[in-house]
Amino acid sequence: MSAKVIALSTNKGGVLKTSVTAHLAPIWAKQGKKVLIIDMDGQGNSAMSFGKIPKKIEDTMYDVLIDGMAAEVAIMNVYENIDLLPSNKKMRFFENDLKGPNKLLRLKNAVNHLRKEYDVILVDSPPTLGTTQGNILAFVDQVIIPFQPEPFSQLSLVEIVEGIEDIQENLNKELRILGILATLVDSRAGLHSETIQEARAYCDKKGWYMFETVIPRSIRFATELKRNGLPATISLPKHPMVQHYFELAKEIEERW
Ligand code: ADP
Ligand code: MG
Repeated sequence: MSAKVIALSTNKGGVLKTSVTAHLAPIWAKQGKKVLIIDMDGQGNSAMSFGKIPKKIEDTMYDVLIDGMAAEVAIMNVYENIDLLPSNKKMRFFENDLKGPNKLLRLKNAVNHLRKEYDVILVDSPPTLGTTQGNILAFVDQVIIPFQPEPFSQLSLVEIVEGIEDIQENLNKELRILGILATLVDSRAGLHSETIQEARAYCDKKGWYMFETVIPRSIRFATELKRNGLPATISLPKHPMVQHYFELAKEIEERW
């Protein structure tokens, strides 16, 4: 077995990196695939998505990356077929405490052997373009970039794509953009609104694939999520919002 290794990356916060990671994992887990989520964000939201309290978790990615703890020690099972390499706020010291050579290869060196243990590895990232994001991009094979389409917001895509191109040139020739995912789309304005069309045209021009699937904004859905304590692809599989995640999973499977 050799895992599909995909990061949800962008330098923007609040654009559903964690939500997409947490909702996709159960879809593949229920197909019998073994899924590992690696949380590289000190907010610890991936653990929270599965009802775990980050500050109560002892062994985390910080220990793996800074203290050389074996990844296997920090891995926790959060659902059938879903394992998590968690982070909590200790991870905020990672970039500062990182010493020695090959700083950008620390994640790859620590977890590369896990590729043969899983079918899918999803890496959830912090909203930054620093050393942490560099470690992620040096390890993964593919990147999904969540992106909130607003007038002129295409420009923010350029920054993360430049970061990806830089890593491609220097550390990871295999790295590719799996797709740009429009998130928090205002469905009242129409899922095929001018803004979406503009974003598609922009991605086409740049030669980046933009997923047909978009994730609409729904405050009510977000509230239901908070009440549930588990990703809605587990707890509310018939919810209309969840159908977007099933469509996205299919679209990813066609391309990975
Ligand atoms: P990121 O990881 O990129 O910072 P999150 O996945 O944490 O973003 O999402 C940001 C916030 O949006 C969270 O509070 C989450 O509960 C909420 N949210 C999730 N899905 C939706 C949605 N479809 N519409 C609106 N808000 C959502
Ligand atoms: Mg997040």
